[in-house]
Amino acid sequence: MDDIVYNPINNIMTCSPDKLEAELKEIAYSFGYNLPERIQFWLKQIANIKSFETVERFYTQAPAELQLVSMLTELSFLIDGWNNLIKSKEMLLKTAKLLQEEILPPGNIKLMFISKTLKDLAKESLFILPHRITEYLYRYEMLLDNYTTEYLAFHEKHNSELIKIQRDLDELKEKQDIVLTFSKIKPMQPFCPDALSNEINAYLTEWCPCEHKLSRDEIIENFVCPECERTFVHTRVLSVFHEKKAQCDELFKKCMSALSRELSRVVLEKENDPIKSIISSLAVADLSSIRNVMSPELVNRIKSLLEKS
Ligand SMILES: [Zn+2]
Repeated sequence: MDDIVYNPINNIMTCSPDKLEAELKEIAYSFGYNLPERIQFWLKQIANIKSFETVERFYTQAPAELQLVSMLTELSFLIDGWNNLIKSKEMLLKTAKLLQEEILPPGNIKLMFISKTLKDLAKESLFILPHRITEYLYRYEMLLDNYTTEYLAFHEKHNSELIKIQRDLDELKEKQDIVLTFSKIKPMQPFCPDALSNEINAYLTEWCPCEHKLSRDEIIENFVCPECERTFVHTRVLSVFHEKKAQCDELFKKCMSALSRELSRVVLEKENDPIKSIISSLAVADLSSIRNVMSPELVNRIKSLLEKS
């Protein structure tokens, strides 16, 4: 009886090489690899053996090189190993996702090294020596554990940086709105262009802090915050912010001093014109003074003054 259970030929005869191939290919593809050629060769050998349909016919009709005990044993072990690998397929596809999506923190040598080892294992070894799944999953756990710690720290630090820029962001939006208002007055258009506002608007959501209280389990499950889905490279939006803020400050200054100049030109003769009081604030682009006098009435008044002049 033991002979029937442990005889490798029985194991080979009862397996489905097509099914094995499809499942193994799915795993290999998820890592971006093709199934190693050696595996295709072994699967072909299995199909050849199975073509004799019964054990009896195989032993009586198959050529001697196909009946080598060492080869049959090796194939049988491989089938067991592959079946074991396929049992962990869902887990492997998930690990491939972490390795493939390039969401690991750039420049983290330790994580890069573990990730490379895992990719190398998945390229060939995992299929040729499927028992290495244990080692693979162990290394993956290590990667995920380190990654999760790094991600939680990133999410917290990045948000605190985003919180810090909110005041400046409000000021930037305010300046942008003022420039936009005057960009609609024809004589001011060359000095108050509206081009920057699209670039700024495109980043407004990116500059918002994420309020989600992130847990370790969520990262183990999703790899990134389920709310903001930001990855380590998102920190670059901070330098974009400082760049856009500098551009906006510059533009605001130019727009306000041009407005001051244009207004001075048209109201100079009218000594008592109330608009004269804001000309000096405009000249130095003083947001707090400008903010106090900005109103639709003032804008209309400026519009009529400049467009008629
Ligand atoms: Zn988040």
